[in-house]
Amino acid sequence: MVFSEKGIARFKRGNSFITFASMEKQLIYFDNAASSPLDERVLRVMHTCQRELFGNPSSVHEAGRRARVAVEDARRTIAKRLHVTPAEVFFTSGGTEANNAILWGAAEDLGYSSFITSPAEHPAVLKPLEAIGSRHGVRVHFAAIDNKGHVDLDHLEKLLKENPASVVSLMHANNETGTLLPVKAVSGLCAKYDSLFHSDTVQTIGKFEMNLGSPHIDFAVASAHKFHGPKGAGFMIVRSGNFFKPFLTGGGQERNMRAGTENLCGIVGMAEALELAHERLEEDQRHIMDLKKTCIENLSERVPGVSFNGDAEGSSLHTILNLSLPAGIDPDMLLPRLDMEGICVSSGSACASGTTKGSHVLEALGVDLQKPSLRISFSRYNTHEEVQRLVDVLVKVSG
Ligand code: PLP
Repeated sequence: MVFSEKGIARFKRGNSFITFASMEKQLIYFDNAASSPLDERVLRVMHTCQRELFGNPSSVHEAGRRARVAVEDARRTIAKRLHVTPAEVFFTSGGTEANNAILWGAAEDLGYSSFITSPAEHPAVLKPLEAIGSRHGVRVHFAAIDNKGHVDLDHLEKLLKENPASVVSLMHANNETGTLLPVKAVSGLCAKYDSLFHSDTVQTIGKFEMNLGSPHIDFAVASAHKFHGPKGAGFMIVRSGNFFKPFLTGGGQERNMRAGTENLCGIVGMAEALELAHERLEEDQRHIMDLKKTCIENLSERVPGVSFNGDAEGSSLHTILNLSLPAGIDPDMLLPRLDMEGICVSSGSACASGTTKGSHVLEALGVDLQKPSLRISFSRYNTHEEVQRLVDVLVKVSG
């Protein structure tokens, strides 16, 4: 890789160069819930994999067998960290595909005709459910949430009582506000009413110690690029007894649950990223919680009228902070102004929409959408200096 004076990254191919975006500007990156930087250790493992493991894992010769061993090692690493069996781990291209495969599999193959979700779920759950719900005889029910985004458990139980043998799809941590689901209580209700529990765990896998056997979760999903792994690699956990016909067909890979040649180096990198995340879990949690606390304290002190959305100081994922600034600042101008200062944040779910459109999650919480809102999402690489710079810039733009 060559860096020009202006910091343009260029890769030589034959006599010409492929030019990538300018890397000149020092960025402060607070959009880790959208995607997080690849860890160096993961990059090294992937580099070796790209160079040395060129066989197709389905080929029976030595090169294929080496690739197969790498895939199965990765599967075992992931299974061990989540306390499931390797046979319950299925590789996908990421969280969107995993959610789609599970929901469609539950409807089409397992024969479930009642689904219970919430209005604050990710579009990778809401959109497939919308399509599934338009099928003859299928119903999708919405559990109420309060103004912090917590699911009303009494309402959930009422829905389950009226519709036993449902699939309950509720995310572990909301990707826009960080509000956490009481997984144990929801798992208990699902068991009581003979229902399956699917949880979109994209934002929490690699952030917490997780045992998917206790409390029991039937289906969980992950996306490597949310925990410093590569983009385009993810997995679904499907507990045995709930296997379904493949969402993608055309090959017998993943024990006939997901056709297509495995993304070998993505899978190897993802397992390394998960392993690394777990090795430094407590250290990272402490550091990120401290950043979030400092950010809340400083903004509360220095930006009159700032408010925090979700349950920022309560049951909330440490990596996510959602806030609204006082009315009067043009919501459409806030992100560009921060961007000009070299600060990357998002307004709601940039990873879902690619736009800065109003958030269906904040709307469901009853947040005043006239006020500009921001999602700040932290990672192990952020520093207190960066938080101070963010606060200074927010003071400037709201002044
Ligand atoms: N679910 C949640 C909660 C997310 O935050 C995301 C992020 O974009 C997804 C699903 C989609 O994951 P992926 O980017 O791997 O398709």
